Amino acid sequence: MQCSILNPAVTRDSSQFVRLDAPDPSGGSRVSLDGRRRPLFGLDAEALAVLMVEAGEPAWRGKQFVEAMYRQGLAELNEITTLPKPLRQKLAAEGWQIDRPRIAQVFQSVDGTERYLVQGQAQDQDQTAQTVETVWMPEGDDGESGDGADGEGQENPGAPGLASETWDSDGPQHQPAPVHSERPSRHRATICVSSQVGCAVNCQFCLTAKLGLQRNLSAGEIAGQVLAVFDRHKVEVGRDRVNLVFMGMGEPFLNYENFMAAVRLLVQEVGLSPRRMTVSTSGIVPGIERFAQEPPEFRPKLAISLNAPNDRIREEIMPINRKWPIEAVTYAVRQVKLRPRERITFEYVLLGGVTDQPEHAVEVARLVRRTGLPAKVNLIAWNPGPGIAYTTPRPEAVEKFRTTLIGEGIPAYLRKPRGRDIYAACGQLKRTVEA
Ligand code: SF4
Repeated sequence: MQCSILNPAVTRDSSQFVRLDAPDPSGGSRVSLDGRRRPLFGLDAEALAVLMVEAGEPAWRGKQFVEAMYRQGLAELNEITTLPKPLRQKLAAEGWQIDRPRIAQVFQSVDGTERYLVQGQAQDQDQTAQTVETVWMPEGDDGESGDGADGEGQENPGAPGLASETWDSDGPQHQPAPVHSERPSRHRATICVSSQVGCAVNCQFCLTAKLGLQRNLSAGEIAGQVLAVFDRHKVEVGRDRVNLVFMGMGEPFLNYENFMAAVRLLVQEVGLSPRRMTVSTSGIVPGIERFAQEPPEFRPKLAISLNAPNDRIREEIMPINRKWPIEAVTYAVRQVKLRPRERITFEYVLLGGVTDQPEHAVEVARLVRRTGLPAKVNLIAWNPGPGIAYTTPRPEAVEKFRTTLIGEGIPAYLRKPRGRDIYAACGQLKRTVEA
């Protein structure tokens, strides 16, 4: 949810990109002879056990798949040598493949952010798997500040604000930073994950909306983005501190089953904590109500993409508000049973002259107080995109907005724009170059 811009001005040859094509480990032979594609990647331990029993094998062989696909990162059936060769051959003949999503292209920002086109799982023989966007932000973007993540504050003690950047009339100016070259001793990073190709929600400040919904991603394609990035950066689960934000392309709660199946996979089979995951929704009330029923051991933290101080302005910039106005959304959010110290995040994109005035901040503070929820506000200065008639707020307006909220007693943080030069920042994602 926070999303993607189709930028026709950016082409494959654009000099602002560093492009690193990754080879396809399958050598391109990703489709079985009869055209059926049956991805194993995305199935959980239970489904894999059932598959093994159906294949006349003991159920425990499912665990061998889990170990191979989600822990060892094997990408080809033939590499799973713990399985008997005849079984591997039988599965391959039936069209089963691991079909693990892989990074097809990499774009590197001067600030260390990386944007990836991740090749998904094609549905049939005639279809080339569409790519989807995923972003790696070393040191994160401060989006997780103050939301109850364990250990918060220990590794990033500075006060939130504009201190890390200088600004001029064109927006923030990054100091050049070395691109990723070797693995740091311990990662602290955030991965922004997509849940759909395109989006149906039609937020007016987001060019992804112009694509409409192309398709839902499968659970394997959602979880696979994470593991593909883990591979690239040699992330070690349990050692590195990596947060996941489901805020890439798409509205996760309009692909609820697959989104939550991916979360369960990442928690159960990969070993990640749901406390290090945040899902952002534009306010899909039935989705929030289902989410409230999820057991805490599988429930990520929740962010609501608010973006306006009242229903009138929100309807203009987010038509979804006509179906589910702010009060309906916050009523549903109150059904979520929060963990100790957990807070709801309200994401707020500041649009110059539209939603960035001090009186808007006062209204937002009132609105947040009225919810009665332990909450904080994440501010995002709108990232410009071609064809969208909004303007980036002035830095003074952003700071005034933040201090007004804080003065009203509402914790407020400014999310750092990351990877603007490679179209990786909030509101900028879209497959600007097709794989
Ligand atoms: S249209 Fe709205 S919900 Fe959809 S990707 Fe863009 S900001 Fe997110």
